Amino acid sequence: MGKIAVSASAPETLRAIRTDRLFDGERAYGPSTVLLSGPTVEDVLPGHGPLPAHIPVSDHGPGSCLLPGLIDPHTHLCLNAGSAPFAHLERSDDAAVLGDAGQAAARALRAGITTVRDLGDRSFLGLTLEHKGNGAQLPEILAAGPPLTSIGGHCHSMGGAAEGQDALRAGVRERSRRGCHTVKVMASGGMLTSGSRPFLPQFTATELRSVVVESHRHGLLAAAHAHDDRSILMAVRAGFDSVEHADFFTADGVAPNPATIAAMAERGTYACITLGERPGAPPLPDSISRRLPAIAALTRLMHEEGVPLLAGSDAGIGPSKPHDVLPHTLAAFVAAGIRPAQALHIATLRAATALRLPRKGRIAPGLHADLLAVAGDPTQDIRALSNVLAVYRGGIVVHRAS
Ligand SMILES: [Zn+2]
Repeated sequence: MGKIAVSASAPETLRAIRTDRLFDGERAYGPSTVLLSGPTVEDVLPGHGPLPAHIPVSDHGPGSCLLPGLIDPHTHLCLNAGSAPFAHLERSDDAAVLGDAGQAAARALRAGITTVRDLGDRSFLGLTLEHKGNGAQLPEILAAGPPLTSIGGHCHSMGGAAEGQDALRAGVRERSRRGCHTVKVMASGGMLTSGSRPFLPQFTATELRSVVVESHRHGLLAAAHAHDDRSILMAVRAGFDSVEHADFFTADGVAPNPATIAAMAERGTYACITLGERPGAPPLPDSISRRLPAIAALTRLMHEEGVPLLAGSDAGIGPSKPHDVLPHTLAAFVAAGIRPAQALHIATLRAATALRLPRKGRIAPGLHADLLAVAGDPTQDIRALSNVLAVYRGGIVVHRAS
């Protein structure tokens, strides 16, 4: 926190936000004033002291809390969160999908999700959307493009099938050339592709390692989708930066392997857990819903064992996961036994660190003014995240509660 005095000669571009509470990505504070200069935070001051008259002030009022914009490290903007999103994708041309993806991204932004990492699209539409994005009106989009998968494997219809080290390395190089942020690999099968086996690896350890080496050589993050223990452990040993889902599925349940969990903690491999549903959504398939209590227990266990968790929405894959579902992912973390302030840290500063975004995820001088103001205290009651008062993207108010 800076000092209370603001220079009377402060530049004309300064603006101030007054809030009853502030969560800066790590800690909670009482009444605070955040000074913005253009797209960045200029200073963070304790209290609501007097400001020079020329500085415009937004006061979010009693009971408000200001926090960094949320970061969703695992979404799918090209999937429409309908009852059959893959069939819809296959029926739709790229122009239609791009229109849907833009609406999905705007929906996320209105919920205070100011950065998303798209971990699987078609035709690199995540990049197209990022480049077409009209500045502040969309979240920052980090794209992986079509996920690398085996021929006929999980999500192959997105166009990223490749087998053998040479083809996989070529796939990584294409993603680097096009400007992707992350390379996503389907290390195991998945639940949403018929013929795919979610409990078995899709690649060899050598193939996975070649993807990691090539990704890191190009400065890209490597993320592995993996449901079963063998695939999770292969991904960890191959050096992936994150394992997506990491839910230790067996054919009929969930069976955490303490040795694999210890390996993740030891290496600092992020486990991006994709829990959470929109309240009131149609019931999940039985194959998922009967596993949820065990995945919640696993989430707490991994947290206690020192695995760095991320909270990913997996938005788009069904009606329970619209593109603004991330607050419910965090509510599921809290229901699993993680403190609300820790869940907020996971979705802000930790996600920014994991995604290598040093200017996001925190409210501090010199960092991006991507901010979320809510009514209530989400560090005590995570449900307050749903009471959005205003969303700021690069210092500009892009959504305000009516
Ligand atoms: Zn996914």
